[in-house]
Amino acid sequence: MNTNSLLSRSLAAVWHPCTQMKHHETLPLLPIAGGEGVWLQDSDGRRYLDAVSSWWVNLFGHNEPRIKAAIREQLDRIEHVMLAGFTHEPVVALSEQLGELTGLGHAFYGSDGASATEIALKMAAHYWRNLGQPQKSRFVYLQDSYHGETLGALSVTDVPIFRSAYAPLVRDNFIVMSPDARRAEAGESARDVAERAAQALETTLAAHHSEIAAVIVEPLVQGAAGMAMYDPLYLTRARELCDRYQVLLIADEIAVGFGRTGTLFACEQAGIRPDLICLSKGITGGYLPLAVVLCTDAIYTAFYDDSSARAFLHSHSYTGNPLACAAALATLAIFRSDDVIARNRDKAARWSEGPFADLAAHPRIRNWRQQGMIWAGDVSAAPEGFARKLYLASLQQGILLRPIGSTLYFMPPYILDDSDAAFLARGTRAALDAVLND
Ligand SMILES: *Cc1c(COP(=O)(O)O)cnc(C)c1O
Repeated sequence: MNTNSLLSRSLAAVWHPCTQMKHHETLPLLPIAGGEGVWLQDSDGRRYLDAVSSWWVNLFGHNEPRIKAAIREQLDRIEHVMLAGFTHEPVVALSEQLGELTGLGHAFYGSDGASATEIALKMAAHYWRNLGQPQKSRFVYLQDSYHGETLGALSVTDVPIFRSAYAPLVRDNFIVMSPDARRAEAGESARDVAERAAQALETTLAAHHSEIAAVIVEPLVQGAAGMAMYDPLYLTRARELCDRYQVLLIADEIAVGFGRTGTLFACEQAGIRPDLICLSKGITGGYLPLAVVLCTDAIYTAFYDDSSARAFLHSHSYTGNPLACAAALATLAIFRSDDVIARNRDKAARWSEGPFADLAAHPRIRNWRQQGMIWAGDVSAAPEGFARKLYLASLQQGILLRPIGSTLYFMPPYILDDSDAAFLARGTRAALDAVLND
């Protein structure tokens, strides 16, 4: 297939996500023909190191044999069956394992991350309604938060480029200070910022808890805000405050779950258990769309009744898809067999000290930060259109980066090795210097 005709057919037939289509008059689309490990290959045979894990979903590389085999095996049994009134082995086994790992249960499935957010918000408000407190129907969310782009998720998302155009469609909720460590004022530590943000949360909860169903947070890292990182103390405090003011705590671990922050789930680092957890992205190793919300027994019990009006009557056509569940089970098996969390810890420490230290020391990079398998830094006095320029310059180096504003970050598949990491650091440095010296 001729590449140019594929690109023009794509521009004619496909409305690409998160894109001003007119920009493709000058910004070329990249036709991907294959992938192997951390590498994507275009139709001309050029290779790109996938340093953003294909939008934060891929954990163990492209063309991973064990995940592929699991999907194939399931494909020979049953590809899909509705989950209302029916069940199957992969969804049961996955729900059991996720229950074990999160300390929660009653796995409720959706398709993409945003559907998990919708489920958690609806479940939280309906929980209070079933307890006779329907006025508890609003939510608290953090500055710079991102929870997806459906209307409910946008109502707890604070990223203007995603939200502003839809403001009239989006319900008003309570926004509170982000614990982002970069908000430190003179002499403050990251812990101090977390403490100050927790005080702001308390002020809002004290004043409005009678109308608040839940607080929703991205534990430890606010990804779409540009990898804003914060001290786990904030989560500990948020848990205490939610208990004190009778408000549920929703942990959106869609991006940070499955080892991304250095523990299987980010909440573990604060020693807390949320009332609801949202999981997606890495759950299938980046193979198939799947999302799930797990909750406490108390929430589940509030819906358990003779009356259908008290039931959680929410569904998506592909809820609990067996192929996706099989991919998720294979992903969890790799965590166990390859001792992924411990190995990642060693790799992250080695690269932070080694190849990535050079970027940390770059004269134009500020706030270099790391949490598990995420590294990020903010480029000072970034030129106009920096994100797009660095994206293009990094492709020249054989690297796929997708900066957020003036923040560049790495969120690589966990199978990245030492030589890949060195290649990534070298190429990023070259791309950055090319953009800044332009
Ligand atoms: C990506 C993301 C979502 C939305 O997931 P989609 O699959 O893109 O709908 C929600 N919350 C967080 C924290 C995310 O990073």
